[in-house]
Formats: sequence, structure tokens, C-alpha cells
Amino acid sequence: MPSPDLAAFVQRLPKTETHLHLEGSLPLELARRMDPEYFATPPAYWRPDFRFTDFAQFQEQFDRYFFKWFVSPENYYESCRRVMADVVAQNGVYLEASFHLGTAERIGDVPFREIARAIHAAKPPGLELRLFLGMFRDHYAGRLAKVVDEAIAWDEIAGVDLHGFERPEFQPWSADIWAKVRALGKVTKAHAGEFMPAADVRRAVEYLGVRRVQHGLSALGDPAVMQLLRDNEVTLDMTPISNVKLLAVPSMREHPIKRFLDAGVRCTISTDDPMLFGNRLNDEYGALGTEGGLDRATLVKIAQNGFAVADLPAAVKAGYLRELEAMGAE
Ligand SMILES: [Zn+2]
Repeated sequence: MPSPDLAAFVQRLPKTETHLHLEGSLPLELARRMDPEYFATPPAYWRPDFRFTDFAQFQEQFDRYFFKWFVSPENYYESCRRVMADVVAQNGVYLEASFHLGTAERIGDVPFREIARAIHAAKPPGLELRLFLGMFRDHYAGRLAKVVDEAIAWDEIAGVDLHGFERPEFQPWSADIWAKVRALGKVTKAHAGEFMPAADVRRAVEYLGVRRVQHGLSALGDPAVMQLLRDNEVTLDMTPISNVKLLAVPSMREHPIKRFLDAGVRCTISTDDPMLFGNRLNDEYGALGTEGGLDRATLVKIAQNGFAVADLPAAVKAGYLRELEAMGAE
């Protein structure tokens, strides 16, 4: 637990969140409304010492509510309104969040674009939202392929992301679509390097062409991939508490983010799936500032990295960077 002084410092930092799955963020009160018995108390996986045995167990808990809650624009709105209000309550001012393509299969005759519109409608004042369409590496088929083809051009969509267990290999369709998305002036991301080796991070950068890798942890073991990340100014959107609970790293103390930063690779931190990890954005900073052993100047640097990569006007960015600079000098 961070000291009250550290907690207050973290709260004061203007922050970004750049790796958040909206379906992984259902607030407990809404889960409880849907299934009062199962969610009567905070789930076991919210405990700080909880570890998922594997990704399948994580997926099982996710599926427990995902298919029941995320079935309509109204339910997305209700959940996202609370999630985004909580980001603002923690002095989060910029959010890159993704929503899941699979939802398109379960909303009947409702146009999928209504989901994107509902999420934007849920955005509170004081928060900048960039919404990403997330999908699996093998999701582009049949009706969903048509949805992707259309959705990438929507104004509501700032970019795309590849989710899931980092398997199978990136497929040719994704390289094509990702290039199209960039040609539209939008941002492309991919999950890689949390469970799979550095070669997968290399493929995300070289084959898929992304400059935003979600996680990227395994790159540390391969100096050539680290050089590739530096050469291409790739940002790694990390999620320390998620990494620990999913056993991608053995403990917060051993989380490698500082080694990436020292090696000149830009990293940010976010919560990933707060419903499955019981975490808030401030907890990520608090955990790194205590068990993680990071000093305040490094926490400030991480917050600055979020703004460095944010899609904000230059003057707005500069304002936040200056504010953080002053906090780093305290
Ligand atoms: Zn993720």
C-alpha cells in the first residue's frame, strides 16, 4: 500500500490511460445487478495476492459477465459512463479505450455503430476519448469482416487493436487492414510480448507496422528487438498489475518497466481490465512506487510518456508536460 503522501502525489499527477478494454472494465455494482449472487462480494481475483492459473481461467471469468452485459448500446453506456467518470476522478484526462468486435454478433438488428456512439455519449467533460476497435488475430471472417471494413472509416473510431492470447500468428488480413487504417490517419496497435516471445513483438512492428505495442515485455530478452523499438520510436502500453496477476512477470518488484525506460524505450502504464484485476489507474502508479521500487521522478516520467504519445494538440500536451516537469522537480 502506498503511503498517504505517495497516494496524494499520484492523485495529483495528470494522467493518461492508453490500454483499457471497456468490456474488461464492467463496474462491480453493474455486475452485481446482473448476477447478485455471484458478485455479492468482490470476486476472489480482486485480492492483491490473487494469481490466475492461466489465461483460460481469466477468459472464463471474463465470459461470465461479458455475454450477458455487453449486448446493447444502453448497457455499454451505463458501464462506460461509470468507468470514464472514475478515470476523471483520478485526474486522468486522456483515455484510449478499446471495445470488442465480437459484440457485433450479439446485438441483433442494432447497427454496431450505435455501440461506438453510446460509448462516446458516455464520455464525461474533462476527458479526451480515443476509441479503438479491438479484435482477435483471427476475427476477420464472414459478417465481422464486413463490419471491420466499414467501421475503420467511422469518425467514432480512432484506431484498431489486436486483442487476446497473442495467438495465432498475425495474419495477412491484419497487415492489410492495419495499413488501411494508418492511411486514414488513424492509430494501429497490437497486443504482443506478454505471453509470446520477442519475435512476436518484432512481427507486430515489422509485419503489422504498429508503433504502439500493448505489453511488449518479452522484447527485453532480445537486444535486437529492443533496438528495433528504439529505432521506430515504438511505445509500449504496459499494465503492471495485470502482468503480475496473469503471471507474465513473477512479482511487482521484478516488473521490468524500469529496465525498458533505462534502455530508452518509451513505456506508459494503464489498467487493462479493471473488472478482472480489481485495479484503478492510481493503483498502477502506487504499486510501482512501492513494491516496484520506482522513485517519484520515474513515475512522473511514465506519466509524461502518456502525454508524449497522446493524440492531443501540441499546446495542450506541452501544458501537461510542464505541469509534470514541475512535479518531478519537487
Ligand atoms: Zn490488453
